[in-house]
Amino acid sequence: MTAAAAAAAAVAGQAPEESASAPMQAPAIAPTRGFRFPAYTSVNVDGPYIAITFDDGPNPETTPKLMKILAARGVKATFFVVGTRASENPELLRQMAAAGHEIGNHSWNHPQLPKVSEAEADRQIQMTSDAIRAATGSAPVYLRPPYGAMSQGLRRHIENKFGLAMVYWSADSLDWKNRDAQAIYDKVMAQTRPGGIILMHDIHATTVAAVPRVLDALQAKGYHFVTVSQLIAMNKPMPERVAQLASGAPKPKKPGTAAKPASATGKPATAKPAVARPKPAPQPVTRTSLY
Ligand SMILES: [Zn+2]
Repeated sequence: MTAAAAAAAAVAGQAPEESASAPMQAPAIAPTRGFRFPAYTSVNVDGPYIAITFDDGPNPETTPKLMKILAARGVKATFFVVGTRASENPELLRQMAAAGHEIGNHSWNHPQLPKVSEAEADRQIQMTSDAIRAATGSAPVYLRPPYGAMSQGLRRHIENKFGLAMVYWSADSLDWKNRDAQAIYDKVMAQTRPGGIILMHDIHATTVAAVPRVLDALQAKGYHFVTVSQLIAMNKPMPERVAQLASGAPKPKKPGTAAKPASATGKPATAKPAVARPKPAPQPVTRTSLY
């Protein structure tokens, strides 16, 4: 879609297509160096903590049903909303925030952001953050790029201009493709690990039908659901050598030749903000993608 077409679609208030969720490319986790924030696929945690995320909503039919299911189990989730739908359903966003869920930015109408002009990408992000702030009083701190599509240059631009960190996922339910509760359950259960981020979409009735069993099974295994911000706040940077082994990066030739984190032994940067925000780079905080 050209920038002009995207802009026209956005003006028309066109919602993303039902099939718009297929990742067009694997979420690339660019190195943290040179970026303001890490890009998260999962987090290194000590306990059985996970984040469940729902993209592409809110939907006035399916999202309220999902929120009841979450509330009945004490589960806090993260919703990456599209601006067209957020601006049409501000009350749903208020309910999400009041229930303790987190709300992130998923663009205005779901384009592949690297394929539109920078000005259009800015508009997609700004309008969506504005809609979230108008509904809830708080602007988001995370962006999940539609399709996981992102370039290094655009990521750097978005981090610096909007203060948004990229959040991807480690467990893909493929619920947009498999409109089947059993298949969704099997996909999530096979991929969920401590510190993981589960990807689902609250716009599909089949997803909402699958969620109770997924939540019950994971809670029975001892998992505790937290928001993306809460999960990232638990992040424990791995020792450098462990991080290298986990990421498959080559080992340093000799002990001590590895580059030291710039401020590893320095003073803490600043006091922690009250609300968990993306942690500043550069720390070896994410494992590499599982895809
Ligand atoms: Zn999406």
